[in-house]
Amino acid sequence: MRTHPGNVFVISAPSGTGKSTLANRLVASLDNFIFSISTTTRPARPGELNGKEYFFVDDATFDQMVNEDGFIEWVQVYGNRYGTGRKWLQGVLDSGKDVLLDIETTGAMNLRRAIPDAVMIFILPPSAVELERRLRGRGKDSETQIQERMKYARHELELYHAYDFLVVNDDLETAYRQMESIVWATRVRRERMVGRAQAILKGF
Ligand code: ADP
Ligand code: 5GP
Repeated sequence: MRTHPGNVFVISAPSGTGKSTLANRLVASLDNFIFSISTTTRPARPGELNGKEYFFVDDATFDQMVNEDGFIEWVQVYGNRYGTGRKWLQGVLDSGKDVLLDIETTGAMNLRRAIPDAVMIFILPPSAVELERRLRGRGKDSETQIQERMKYARHELELYHAYDFLVVNDDLETAYRQMESIVWATRVRRERMVGRAQAILKGF
């Protein structure tokens, strides 16, 4: 997985922070930049489509993929399993596209071991109170799920130091511009530009 033309971006954030809002906007506005589609045993929420938000599978299918080493990383959270398909990711990276992986902290740490040059971005909510307000505001979770997500949020936030970039999603526009800057800066890193620079040099 180390010699791939595309860049891997990982974003983690406690559920409700605004990660999907930011990620969807990035994917919509940047060229050659796509969202990773994970495989999950979680049932689809209303409006979610198989092959768009996730590949939705049953437990037996997920077990089979685990046994066949089909995941670069996988985890169990909130009673469901989620994993990044090895073949799927390799195919995208080989095509030269950048890929954005929305995965929680444990999976992100495992992914970093598999792809050491992955760019790891952690998005923080401005405060605990605001996170709870956003979770309620989006109206997707039951009260029990909200309490569960708030508890897991603390655990995830404690791992911020394992990431390369920390973006606080307070003002949405500022957070978005910071995310976009990370992508643009990564694309012009020296190791990514060597081929281009050498070609220019040859003309002299
Ligand atoms: P996540 O994907 O992290 O679970 P969402 O993108 O679904 O979070 O956002 C959770 C809720 O917070 C949504 O209702 C969204 O519109 C809102 N939201 C996202 N970013 C901000 C922000 N910067 N300020 C206020 N509300 C926000
Ligand atoms: P949700 O059920 O709200 O879509 O996602 C729940 C959590 O699972 C989120 O924190 C999301 O980042 C995480 N997640 C989604 N796909 C994957 C994956 O493939 N691997 C890992 N490790 N986490 C994932």
